[in-house]
Amino acid sequence: MKRRTFIIGTTALLAGAGAGTAYWPRRWNYIVIHHSAGNYGDIKFLQQVHRERQSGDPVDAIPYHYVIGNGNGLAMGEIASDWRREYDIWGAHVSGNNSDRNFRGIGVCLIGNLEEHQVPQGQYDALVKLTRSLMAQYDIPVSNVTGHGYVEGESTKCPGKHFPMEKFKRDIA
Ligand SMILES: [Zn+2]
Repeated sequence: MKRRTFIIGTTALLAGAGAGTAYWPRRWNYIVIHHSAGNYGDIKFLQQVHRERQSGDPVDAIPYHYVIGNGNGLAMGEIASDWRREYDIWGAHVSGNNSDRNFRGIGVCLIGNLEEHQVPQGQYDALVKLTRSLMAQYDIPVSNVTGHGYVEGESTKCPGKHFPMEKFKRDIA
């Protein structure tokens, strides 16, 4: 709770400072797709995982801005977020090698392990719809939408070998 108070205060300060009012929520310039690598997930669960794995993060929230359910924890295709999104706080979804992708990149996570299975249709459709709407809202080009492991400097298989990147790029274009 202390962490939360601190970070909301900081964010409100930044957002309220002059030009920051316009800049802060308008700075989004990338979308980065992830998978959770586990077959169960909802906001509460991912907050807990984040606390354990990234205990240095002062933001006590999920590391992404959105998660999309797979019917196990969240409903199939259900889009959920927490206060990281609500206050336009930077993400914690890529490594320190790509701070700008955290600061100006919207992280979207598909629940599931896409190293092991395909993206269910309902979840995929929700991802396409959400991505297209964010691209329109923030004027983000297709070239700035990618998967976590496709970002130079990241060493991860995320969002998994079964994520249909080429098809996805076509579907959001
Ligand atoms: Zn990832």
